[in-house]
Amino acid sequence: MAAARNLNAGFPQGGSLGLARSVEHRYTSLGGEISYRARVERILVEDGRAIGVELKNGERHYADHVVSACDGRTTVYRLLEGRYTGPRIDRLYQDLIHEPGTLFPAVVSVFLGIDGELDAGRDTADPHCTTYLLPAEQAAELPGSLQRSLVVQQRSQYSDGFAPPGKSVVHCTYFSDHAYWKTLRGRDRREYRAHKQRAADVVRGFLEQRYPGLRERIDLIEVATPATMERYTGNSQGSILAWKAFSGADDVVTKLINRDRMRLPGLAGFSMAGHWASLGGLIRAASSGRFAVQYLCEELGLEFRAWESDDQEPWHPGRLGHLPQLARWSATA
Ligand SMILES: Cc1cc2nc3c(=O)[nH]c(=O)nc-3n(C[C@H](O)[C@H](O)[C@H](O)COP(=O)(O)OP(=O)(O)OC[C@H]3O[C@@H](n4cnc5c(N)ncnc54)[C@H](O)[C@@H]3O)c2cc1C
Repeated sequence: MAAARNLNAGFPQGGSLGLARSVEHRYTSLGGEISYRARVERILVEDGRAIGVELKNGERHYADHVVSACDGRTTVYRLLEGRYTGPRIDRLYQDLIHEPGTLFPAVVSVFLGIDGELDAGRDTADPHCTTYLLPAEQAAELPGSLQRSLVVQQRSQYSDGFAPPGKSVVHCTYFSDHAYWKTLRGRDRREYRAHKQRAADVVRGFLEQRYPGLRERIDLIEVATPATMERYTGNSQGSILAWKAFSGADDVVTKLINRDRMRLPGLAGFSMAGHWASLGGLIRAASSGRFAVQYLCEELGLEFRAWESDDQEPWHPGRLGHLPQLARWSATA
C-alpha cells in the first residue's frame, strides 16, 4: 500500500493480458518472433551445451542460447532430465519445495459476469477490492480452502474493456490446496466439476447475502482451480508466484542469481529466468529476464542496452486483441 501511495506499484492498464500484449508488441516490434501453443518437450543438449528445443509436435528449433522461463522443476527434471543439478538446485527442488510456507499456494478463482455493477443501488461505491475474513464454518464450505478469507475484486473497475457496456466482472479468490483438486480431477471428472460448481454456489450465496437480488443479475460464472492453473501455466502445484520472499528459498535463489549467474552446473548456452529463478511476483520475474541477458552480454563481450519504447499510442481496450474462449465448462449461474 505504501508503494502504491508512492506510485511505485499499481494495476496495469488492461490487467495481465494488457501487460502481456504490451510486452508482445515491444518484442515483435524489435524483430522478435513468438510461437504460441508450442509446448517444449525437451531441451536439446550437445557436448554439454544447450543447442535448442524440441516441441511436443516433434519440431526442433536451434539456438545460440536457450533461456527457459517456465516452471523450474519441469525445466530441471523433465526438459533436461535432471542431468544438470547441484547443491542449490537440489536444495530448492528436493527439499524446500516440500516445506510448508516456501511456495505461494494456488488459488481458486470464481469469476462472475454480472448485469450492472456489483454494488448497484448503493449510496456509496464499495472499494474495488475487499478481503472478507470468514468464520471457520463458512470458510470450510469453500472446497479445498486453505485460509479463512475470501477476496472480492470488482475487476471491471480496474480498467476499461473487461466487460461489455452495462456489465461487470467480479473476481473472487481464496487460497486453495492443489493436491485436493488435482486428486479429484484425476479420479473423477464429474465429481471434480461438482466441486467447482460448489465453489461457485458458495461464493454466489456469500455475495447474495451482501448484495440482495444479485442472484438474478448473474449472467455467467467461471471457476478456475489450482488444477486449471497448473494445466494452463505449467507452474508446479499451481503456485501463483513460485518461491516466497523471506522464506528458506530466498537465500538460495539469490545465490542462483548472484553466484551461478542464472546458469545450471555443467550446462553451457543455457539460462533460467522467470519467477522460479527469481522469487515470486511480476516485477522480479520480469527483472530476471533482464539479468539473464545482462550476464549473457557480459559473456559475449557485448554492451547491454535498454531503452524505452517510442510507442506513443495510449492504451485502449482494442489493444487486448482477440479474446479466445478457453473454458469448455462453465458453472451454472
Ligand atoms: C491470480 C494471480 C494473481 C497474481 N497477482 C499478482 C500481483 O498482484 N502482483 C504480482 O507481482 N504478481 C502477481 N501474480 C504472480 C505473477 O503473475 C507471476 O509471478 C508471473 O506471471 C510469473 O511470470 P513468469 O513469466 O515467471 O511465469 P508465467 O507467467 O507462469 O509464464 C510461464 C509461461 O511458460 C509457458 N510454459 C510452461 N511450460 C512450457 C513448456 N513446456 N513449453 C513452452 N511454454 C511453456 C506457460 O504457458 C506460460 O506462458 C499473480 C498470479 C496469479 C495466478
